[in-house]
Amino acid sequence: MKRQEFSGWLRAVLAGGTAFVLFALETRQALRPARREDRGVRTGRNLVIAGMAGMVMNLIETPLLKRVARHVERNELGLAYRLTRNPIMRTVAGVLLLDYGLYLWHVLTHKVPLLWRFHLVHHIDLDLDASTAIRFHFGEMMLSVPWRLAQVRLAGASPLAASIWQTCLLMSILFHHSNVRLPIRIERRLRWLIATPRLHGIHHRPQQICLNSNWSSGLSIWDILHRTHRWSEDEQQSTGVADYQRLEDVTLARCLTIPFTLASPAISRPLLLKD
Ligand SMILES: [Zn+2]
Repeated sequence: MKRQEFSGWLRAVLAGGTAFVLFALETRQALRPARREDRGVRTGRNLVIAGMAGMVMNLIETPLLKRVARHVERNELGLAYRLTRNPIMRTVAGVLLLDYGLYLWHVLTHKVPLLWRFHLVHHIDLDLDASTAIRFHFGEMMLSVPWRLAQVRLAGASPLAASIWQTCLLMSILFHHSNVRLPIRIERRLRWLIATPRLHGIHHRPQQICLNSNWSSGLSIWDILHRTHRWSEDEQQSTGVADYQRLEDVTLARCLTIPFTLASPAISRPLLLKD
């Protein structure tokens, strides 16, 4: 049987095209025009952090994920294979289940202290734009590998389903982290379907009640089902984490070492129960 999956170059073209369009739109119609940091400095820092995470993905996650997805397909394992025999519906089910698995992982990164140490690096960005979307500490990427492999195995995601999900996810996270101002009437409707810039922007506010909402990375349905879907049209809100609001708190060196710093107020503060 011929193995089907999105080719690497197609994914690169779609993601690169999305990033290019969003970057242009952010310049022309910014949702949050008042930036706290120089755009070039911030983007450079985010690209360095993203580059290190990308190395982990390319060297560790992607090869293992492909291997598990091929094993799943060869042996017809996982939930999608139990739900339907139709190959198209099975691929759709695989993509949806992966999307839900990522929602659960995102919740864990906020609730489990060890994971929050690393996910914090994504959240302390003082501005929010498409470059924030790929700014994840390489440690978070490494810790996510077992979960990601389990997701593929349990969902029953074929190489095609896994590659569609990876491509859509990259385009989605670039979009909903972006600083693009969409017409409010469109976004009011769109937020019920997918994560949008205003919707995910709420997740990046310092208030605990905001951090504990809008965890979906693709479809909004997971937040709606778990009652963590929060909407606000108030645009005068800051971004980041309460204990990291100064420029010296978010330098490249700090970003890379924060997870390994024991005495950090934002890390030691319990995020588990309080809203
Ligand atoms: Zn988060």
